[in-house]
Amino acid sequence: MYERMNKVAVVTGAANGIGWATAQRWAQEGYQVALLDMSNEAVLARANELGQPHIGLACDVTSESGVTAAITAVMSNFGRIDTLVNNAGIGDQTGATVVQNVEAFDRVLAVHLRGTFLMSQAVARVMLAATPDATGARGSMVNLGSIASSIGLPARNAYSAAKAGIVGMTRAMASEWARAGIRVNAVAPGYVRTALINELERQGALDTKGIAHRTPLGRMADPAEIAEAIVFLGSGRASYITGAVLPVDGGWTAFGAPEGTLQPVAEPACA
Ligand code: NDP
Repeated sequence: MYERMNKVAVVTGAANGIGWATAQRWAQEGYQVALLDMSNEAVLARANELGQPHIGLACDVTSESGVTAAITAVMSNFGRIDTLVNNAGIGDQTGATVVQNVEAFDRVLAVHLRGTFLMSQAVARVMLAATPDATGARGSMVNLGSIASSIGLPARNAYSAAKAGIVGMTRAMASEWARAGIRVNAVAPGYVRTALINELERQGALDTKGIAHRTPLGRMADPAEIAEAIVFLGSGRASYITGAVLPVDGGWTAFGAPEGTLQPVAEPACA
């Protein structure tokens, strides 16, 4: 293993998609993983799948008392937290801006922004009180941005605001905690084949074939490909990286020419 065996990773939204792939990847790195998610049943099933010593905890990241209780439980189980992945997220409402609903807008902001703030705050309290290692490091955090952090997706108002806000928070927290040995970075995935995307597709809100054609690499990402980038940024291998936003988008945001300049995509890669 690259790092010590007793390190602890906390992953929110860990029962599905990118969070589940990330929990598995941290476990492969030798970390003890605390999987947090809304559904107690789902998160316990995932923790069981990973086996000992990993734990599953029900936690709604928008609830301050829920976050406090979850972090207290992680500490009483493991006694330390080395890395946090703020992954929990929900998709935006679909439909034109003029018919969008403000409660749904608020909920998207709450899960992504309030959730990332509350979890980071609770975990930072633990990390700041910890003894730094020989290099001065106390821990790391990785937040989930999106291509929506930096480019315009029509009608995705709350989601775009939330994901741009997460990038802002990443930079603010990275700057605040760098001298204390806590690194904070973000990954900005493109389209990833998860339940969130499947649901948008089911609602007719996403043209998956069109996405494959617009993506220079010609396909959506697998959740494991995002997990790989998250674990790199969270691990000691990224010891001099903080405040960064790493696009993991198959070239989506790098590409600015007319779509026709890309070679056609082979049909099976559109899935
Ligand atoms: P999934 O829907 O597959 O998984 C998200 C998980 O987060 C679910 O288990 C969900 O639980 C959980 N969750 C939702 N709300 C909360 C909450 N309040 N507290 C705790 N857990 C919660 O999503 P993805 O894996 O696709 O997305 C993960 C992250 O990656 C999100 O932040 C998303 O915005 C971001 N992302 C995803 C992209 C994609 O293409 N999939 C692209 C770019 C960014 P439940 O199912 O019960 O709601």
